Amino acid sequence: MDTDPSLLQWIACPLCGQDRSRTVAVTRDWRHGSPGMFRYVRCGQCGLVYANPRVRPDQIHLFYPNDYGAFQREPARQVAWGKKPHTEWFKQIRKAALAQKCGNRIGRRQWAASHVNRWLALAASHSVVCRKSPLHFHGDGLRLLDVGAGTGEFLWQMRELGWEAEGIEPDERALGVCREHGLQVAGTTIEKADLPAEVFDVVTVWQTLEHVCDPAGVLKKIVGALVPAGLLVGSIPNAASWNRIVQGEYWWGYDPPRHYVVFSPTALRKAFEMAGLRTRWVYCLSSTKGVFAGRAARARMEGRQFSEPIPAWALRFWVRLLDRLGLGDNLWFVGQKAV
Ligand SMILES: [Zn+2]
Repeated sequence: MDTDPSLLQWIACPLCGQDRSRTVAVTRDWRHGSPGMFRYVRCGQCGLVYANPRVRPDQIHLFYPNDYGAFQREPARQVAWGKKPHTEWFKQIRKAALAQKCGNRIGRRQWAASHVNRWLALAASHSVVCRKSPLHFHGDGLRLLDVGAGTGEFLWQMRELGWEAEGIEPDERALGVCREHGLQVAGTTIEKADLPAEVFDVVTVWQTLEHVCDPAGVLKKIVGALVPAGLLVGSIPNAASWNRIVQGEYWWGYDPPRHYVVFSPTALRKAFEMAGLRTRWVYCLSSTKGVFAGRAARARMEGRQFSEPIPAWALRFWVRLLDRLGLGDNLWFVGQKAV
Protein backbone atom coordinates (compact mmCIF):
# COMPACT_ATOMS: atom_id res chain seq x y z
CA MET A 1 0.00 0.00 0.00
CA ASP A 2 1.20 3.49 -0.82
CA THR A 3 0.98 6.69 1.17
CA ASP A 4 -2.14 8.69 0.25
CA PRO A 5 -0.73 11.20 -2.31
CA SER A 6 -2.94 13.96 -0.90
CA LEU A 7 -0.81 13.80 2.27
CA LEU A 8 2.40 14.53 0.33
CA GLN A 9 3.98 17.69 -1.05
CA TRP A 10 7.02 18.33 -3.27
CA ILE A 11 9.40 21.00 -2.04
CA ALA A 12 12.62 22.87 -2.83
CA CYS A 13 15.46 22.63 -0.29
CA PRO A 14 14.01 23.85 3.03
CA LEU A 15 17.36 25.36 4.02
CA CYS A 16 18.65 27.23 0.95
CA GLY A 17 15.62 27.19 -1.38
CA GLN A 18 17.47 25.58 -4.32
CA ASP A 19 15.73 22.87 -6.35
CA ARG A 20 18.79 20.94 -7.54
CA SER A 21 19.07 17.61 -5.70
CA ARG A 22 19.74 13.90 -6.10
CA THR A 23 18.13 10.91 -4.46
CA VAL A 24 20.16 9.32 -1.64
CA ALA A 25 17.63 6.82 -0.25
CA VAL A 26 14.21 5.35 -0.84
CA THR A 27 13.08 3.80 2.38
CA ARG A 28 10.16 2.68 4.55
CA ASP A 29 8.88 3.40 8.01
CA TRP A 30 10.53 0.31 9.52
CA ARG A 31 9.94 1.59 13.00
CA HIS A 32 6.18 2.06 12.98
CA GLY A 33 5.07 0.50 9.71
CA SER A 34 3.35 3.47 8.02
CA PRO A 35 2.40 2.50 4.45
CA GLY A 36 4.41 3.56 1.41
CA MET A 37 7.95 4.40 0.38
CA PHE A 38 9.67 7.64 1.32
CA ARG A 39 12.40 9.35 -0.65
CA TYR A 40 15.33 11.38 0.70
CA VAL A 41 17.41 13.70 -1.49
CA ARG A 42 20.60 15.69 -0.97
CA CYS A 43 20.59 19.37 -1.95
CA GLY A 44 23.21 20.12 -4.60
CA GLN A 45 23.72 23.58 -3.15
CA CYS A 46 23.92 23.29 0.68
CA GLY A 47 24.24 19.51 1.20
CA LEU A 48 21.14 19.16 3.38
CA VAL A 49 19.45 15.76 3.14
CA TYR A 50 15.65 16.15 3.16
CA ALA A 51 12.44 14.23 2.53
CA ASN A 52 11.03 14.97 -0.92
CA PRO A 53 8.14 14.55 -1.38
CA ARG A 54 7.41 14.98 2.30
CA VAL A 55 4.28 14.49 4.37
CA ARG A 56 2.51 17.83 4.65
CA PRO A 57 3.30 19.47 7.99
CA ASP A 58 -0.42 19.73 8.85
CA GLN A 59 -0.75 15.95 8.45
CA ILE A 60 2.49 14.70 10.02
CA HIS A 61 0.80 14.09 13.40
CA LEU A 62 -0.85 11.04 11.77
CA PHE A 63 2.60 9.42 11.65
CA TYR A 64 3.42 9.75 15.36
CA PRO A 65 1.85 6.68 16.97
CA ASN A 66 1.06 6.38 20.67
CA ASP A 67 4.16 4.28 21.24
CA TYR A 68 6.53 6.81 19.64
CA GLY A 69 9.80 6.66 21.63
CA ALA A 70 10.02 10.19 23.04
CA PHE A 71 6.50 9.97 24.49
CA GLN A 72 7.10 6.64 26.17
CA ARG A 73 9.75 7.57 28.67
CA GLU A 74 8.87 7.30 32.28
CA PRO A 75 8.08 10.44 34.19
CA ALA A 76 11.01 12.79 34.42
CA ARG A 77 11.59 12.53 38.13
CA GLN A 78 12.17 8.79 38.01
CA VAL A 79 14.60 8.61 35.13
CA ALA A 80 16.44 11.88 35.46
CA TRP A 81 19.28 10.69 37.71
CA GLY A 82 18.89 6.91 37.65
CA LYS A 83 16.23 4.78 39.26
CA LYS A 84 17.80 2.12 41.45
CA PRO A 85 18.36 2.82 45.16
CA HIS A 86 21.94 1.47 45.04
CA THR A 87 22.81 4.17 42.52
CA GLU A 88 22.15 6.90 45.11
CA TRP A 89 25.87 7.65 45.55
CA PHE A 90 26.32 7.63 41.79
CA LYS A 91 23.54 10.20 41.42
CA GLN A 92 25.42 12.49 43.79
CA ILE A 93 28.60 12.17 41.73
CA ARG A 94 26.68 12.83 38.52
CA LYS A 95 25.01 15.87 39.96
CA ALA A 96 28.28 17.25 41.28
CA ALA A 97 30.07 16.61 37.99
CA LEU A 98 27.28 18.04 35.89
CA ALA A 99 26.94 21.06 38.15
CA GLN A 100 30.64 21.68 37.57
CA LYS A 101 30.26 21.30 33.81
CA CYS A 102 26.89 22.74 33.02
CA GLY A 103 25.33 24.21 36.11
CA ASN A 104 25.13 27.93 36.44
CA ARG A 105 26.43 29.76 39.52
CA ILE A 106 23.53 28.59 41.66
CA GLY A 107 23.87 24.95 40.67
CA ARG A 108 27.64 24.95 41.13
CA ARG A 109 27.34 26.42 44.57
CA GLN A 110 24.73 23.89 45.55
CA TRP A 111 26.41 20.73 44.27
CA ALA A 112 30.10 21.44 44.19
CA ALA A 113 30.40 23.23 47.51
CA SER A 114 31.90 20.47 49.65
CA HIS A 115 35.47 19.23 49.21
CA VAL A 116 34.22 15.73 48.56
CA ASN A 117 31.92 16.91 45.84
CA ARG A 118 34.61 19.07 44.32
CA TRP A 119 36.98 16.10 44.17
CA LEU A 120 34.34 13.81 42.77
CA ALA A 121 33.29 16.40 40.25
CA LEU A 122 36.86 16.82 39.04
CA ALA A 123 37.24 13.07 38.61
CA ALA A 124 33.85 12.62 37.01
CA SER A 125 34.05 15.63 34.73
CA HIS A 126 36.45 13.61 32.57
CA SER A 127 34.14 10.64 32.53
CA VAL A 128 31.49 9.54 30.13
CA VAL A 129 28.87 11.34 32.25
CA CYS A 130 30.25 14.66 31.15
CA ARG A 131 31.34 13.64 27.72
CA LYS A 132 27.64 13.11 27.15
CA SER A 133 26.76 16.55 28.49
CA PRO A 134 27.91 19.14 26.02
CA LEU A 135 26.24 21.97 27.86
CA HIS A 136 29.60 23.42 28.91
CA PHE A 137 28.13 26.61 30.20
CA HIS A 138 30.00 28.30 32.99
CA GLY A 139 28.17 31.54 33.18
CA ASP A 140 25.70 33.47 35.19
CA GLY A 141 22.89 32.37 32.91
CA LEU A 142 19.62 31.38 34.44
CA ARG A 143 16.99 30.78 31.82
CA LEU A 144 16.90 27.71 29.62
CA LEU A 145 14.36 26.62 27.00
CA ASP A 146 14.18 22.97 25.90
CA VAL A 147 12.47 22.64 22.51
CA GLY A 148 10.77 19.25 22.14
CA ALA A 149 10.85 18.52 25.87
CA GLY A 150 9.24 15.04 25.62
CA THR A 151 8.36 13.85 29.11
CA GLY A 152 10.69 16.40 30.70
CA GLU A 153 13.68 14.33 31.85
CA PHE A 154 16.21 16.95 30.74
CA LEU A 155 14.17 19.87 32.13
CA TRP A 156 14.03 18.14 35.48
CA GLN A 157 17.81 17.68 35.55
CA MET A 158 18.55 21.25 34.58
CA ARG A 159 16.12 22.61 37.14
CA GLU A 160 18.02 20.68 39.80
CA LEU A 161 21.26 22.20 38.51
CA GLY A 162 19.98 25.69 39.20
CA TRP A 163 18.32 26.65 35.92
CA GLU A 164 14.94 28.26 35.40
CA ALA A 165 14.17 25.62 32.81
CA GLU A 166 11.04 25.65 30.68
CA GLY A 167 10.03 23.76 27.56
CA ILE A 168 7.92 23.39 24.45
CA GLU A 169 6.25 20.08 23.61
CA PRO A 170 3.39 19.57 21.15
CA ASP A 171 2.41 16.03 22.18
CA GLU A 172 -0.54 15.97 24.60
CA ARG A 173 0.56 12.78 26.38
CA ALA A 174 4.12 13.93 26.96
CA LEU A 175 2.85 17.36 27.96
CA GLY A 176 0.57 15.79 30.58
CA VAL A 177 3.56 13.98 32.14
CA CYS A 178 5.58 17.23 32.28
CA ARG A 179 2.74 19.09 33.95
CA GLU A 180 2.12 16.34 36.50
CA HIS A 181 5.71 16.96 37.57
CA GLY A 182 5.23 20.69 37.86
CA LEU A 183 7.43 21.48 34.87
CA GLN A 184 6.69 24.63 32.93
CA VAL A 185 6.03 23.44 29.38
CA ALA A 186 4.00 25.11 26.61
CA GLY A 187 1.82 22.77 24.53
CA THR A 188 2.81 23.84 21.04
CA THR A 189 5.39 23.36 18.29
CA ILE A 190 8.46 25.55 17.90
CA GLU A 191 7.01 26.77 14.58
CA LYS A 192 3.85 28.08 16.28
CA ALA A 193 5.37 29.07 19.63
CA ASP A 194 5.39 32.73 20.54
CA LEU A 195 8.91 33.21 21.94
CA PRO A 196 9.90 36.33 23.87
CA ALA A 197 12.86 38.29 22.46
CA GLU A 198 16.36 37.89 23.93
CA VAL A 199 15.55 36.18 27.23
CA PHE A 200 17.08 32.68 27.14
CA ASP A 201 20.72 32.06 28.02
CA VAL A 202 20.54 28.56 26.53
CA VAL A 203 18.12 26.87 24.14
CA THR A 204 18.40 23.09 23.75
CA VAL A 205 17.16 21.00 20.82
CA TRP A 206 17.77 17.30 21.57
CA GLN A 207 16.87 15.23 18.48
CA THR A 208 14.41 17.93 17.47
CA LEU A 209 15.67 19.89 14.43
CA GLU A 210 15.25 16.86 12.16
CA HIS A 211 11.49 17.01 12.85
CA VAL A 212 10.95 20.63 11.78
CA CYS A 213 9.72 21.47 8.29
CA ASP A 214 11.41 24.88 8.13
CA PRO A 215 14.84 24.53 9.82
CA ALA A 216 16.07 27.94 8.62
CA GLY A 217 13.01 29.72 10.04
CA VAL A 218 13.16 27.77 13.31
CA LEU A 219 16.85 28.57 13.82
CA LYS A 220 16.21 32.28 13.22
CA LYS A 221 13.35 32.20 15.71
CA ILE A 222 15.53 30.53 18.35
CA VAL A 223 18.34 33.02 17.78
CA GLY A 224 15.81 35.84 18.31
CA ALA A 225 14.92 34.36 21.71
CA LEU A 226 18.58 33.98 22.83
CA VAL A 227 20.37 36.71 24.74
CA PRO A 228 23.53 38.05 23.02
CA ALA A 229 26.24 35.33 23.34
CA GLY A 230 23.52 32.82 24.31
CA LEU A 231 23.98 29.18 23.31
CA LEU A 232 22.03 26.78 21.14
CA VAL A 233 22.90 23.21 22.19
CA GLY A 234 21.57 19.97 20.76
CA SER A 235 21.95 16.75 18.83
CA ILE A 236 20.76 15.42 15.45
CA PRO A 237 21.40 12.44 13.16
CA ASN A 238 24.52 12.93 11.01
CA ALA A 239 24.03 12.84 7.23
CA ALA A 240 27.79 12.28 6.86
CA SER A 241 27.55 9.06 8.89
CA TRP A 242 29.15 5.91 7.54
CA ASN A 243 26.31 3.82 8.85
CA ARG A 244 23.99 5.83 6.63
CA ILE A 245 25.93 4.45 3.64
CA VAL A 246 26.39 0.94 5.05
CA GLN A 247 22.83 0.51 6.39
CA GLY A 248 21.18 2.32 3.46
CA GLU A 249 17.38 2.25 3.73
CA TYR A 250 17.65 0.77 7.24
CA TRP A 251 19.53 3.72 8.70
CA TRP A 252 17.71 4.98 11.83
CA GLY A 253 18.51 8.63 11.04
CA TYR A 254 15.87 8.75 8.27
CA ASP A 255 13.02 7.50 10.44
CA PRO A 256 10.56 8.34 7.62
CA PRO A 257 8.35 10.24 7.35
CA ARG A 258 8.91 11.84 10.77
CA HIS A 259 12.39 13.17 9.98
CA TYR A 260 12.05 15.98 7.46
CA VAL A 261 15.73 16.92 7.34
CA VAL A 262 19.11 15.33 8.12
CA PHE A 263 22.12 17.63 8.54
CA SER A 264 25.75 16.96 7.71
CA PRO A 265 28.28 19.01 9.70
CA THR A 266 28.73 21.23 6.62
CA ALA A 267 24.99 21.84 6.19
CA LEU A 268 24.68 22.52 9.92
CA ARG A 269 27.46 25.11 9.85
CA LYS A 270 25.79 26.76 6.87
CA ALA A 271 22.42 26.81 8.66
CA PHE A 272 24.03 28.34 11.75
CA GLU A 273 25.73 31.01 9.66
CA MET A 274 22.44 31.89 7.95
CA ALA A 275 20.72 32.21 11.34
CA GLY A 276 23.46 34.36 12.92
CA LEU A 277 25.10 31.67 15.07
CA ARG A 278 28.81 31.02 15.40
CA THR A 279 29.61 27.30 15.45
CA ARG A 280 31.44 26.56 18.72
CA TRP A 281 31.54 22.76 18.51
CA VAL A 282 30.26 20.05 16.21
CA TYR A 283 31.28 16.51 17.08
CA CYS A 284 30.05 12.94 16.85
CA LEU A 285 28.70 11.06 19.85
CA SER A 286 26.71 8.00 18.88
CA SER A 287 25.12 5.02 20.51
CA THR A 288 25.43 1.38 19.51
CA LYS A 289 21.64 1.01 19.74
CA GLY A 290 20.84 2.65 16.42
CA VAL A 291 23.23 0.72 14.18
CA PHE A 292 21.04 -2.31 13.52
CA ALA A 293 17.75 -0.78 14.69
CA GLY A 294 16.23 -0.64 11.20
CA ARG A 295 17.06 -4.26 10.35
CA ALA A 296 15.82 -5.40 13.75
CA ALA A 297 12.56 -3.47 13.25
CA ARG A 298 12.05 -5.11 9.85
CA ALA A 299 12.61 -8.56 11.34
CA ARG A 300 10.08 -7.80 14.09
CA MET A 301 7.57 -6.63 11.52
CA GLU A 302 8.01 -9.87 9.57
CA GLY A 303 7.91 -12.04 12.69
CA ARG A 304 11.55 -13.13 12.35
CA GLN A 305 14.27 -13.37 14.99
CA PHE A 306 17.11 -10.88 14.61
CA SER A 307 20.53 -11.10 16.14
CA GLU A 308 23.24 -8.51 15.57
CA PRO A 309 25.76 -9.81 13.05
CA ILE A 310 28.78 -8.68 15.10
CA PRO A 311 29.54 -9.06 18.83
CA ALA A 312 28.70 -6.20 21.19
CA TRP A 313 32.36 -5.32 21.88
CA ALA A 314 33.10 -5.03 18.15
CA LEU A 315 30.02 -2.86 17.67
CA ARG A 316 31.16 -0.54 20.48
CA PHE A 317 34.62 -0.32 18.94
CA TRP A 318 33.13 0.42 15.50
CA VAL A 319 30.83 3.16 16.82
CA ARG A 320 33.64 4.84 18.79
CA LEU A 321 36.01 4.64 15.83
CA LEU A 322 33.48 6.29 13.52
CA ASP A 323 32.82 9.00 16.12
CA ARG A 324 36.55 9.73 16.32
CA LEU A 325 36.70 10.04 12.54
CA GLY A 326 33.69 12.38 12.45
CA LEU A 327 31.66 9.71 10.64
CA GLY A 328 29.42 8.68 13.54
CA ASP A 329 25.64 8.48 13.48
CA ASN A 330 24.84 11.35 15.75
CA LEU A 331 26.06 14.96 15.83
CA TRP A 332 26.21 17.09 18.97
CA PHE A 333 26.59 20.79 18.51
CA VAL A 334 26.91 24.12 20.27
CA GLY A 335 26.26 27.39 18.44
CA GLN A 336 26.62 30.83 19.93
CA LYS A 337 24.72 33.98 19.10
CA ALA A 338 26.83 37.00 18.19
CA VAL A 339 27.31 39.55 20.96
ZN1 LIG B 1 19.91 23.46 0.10
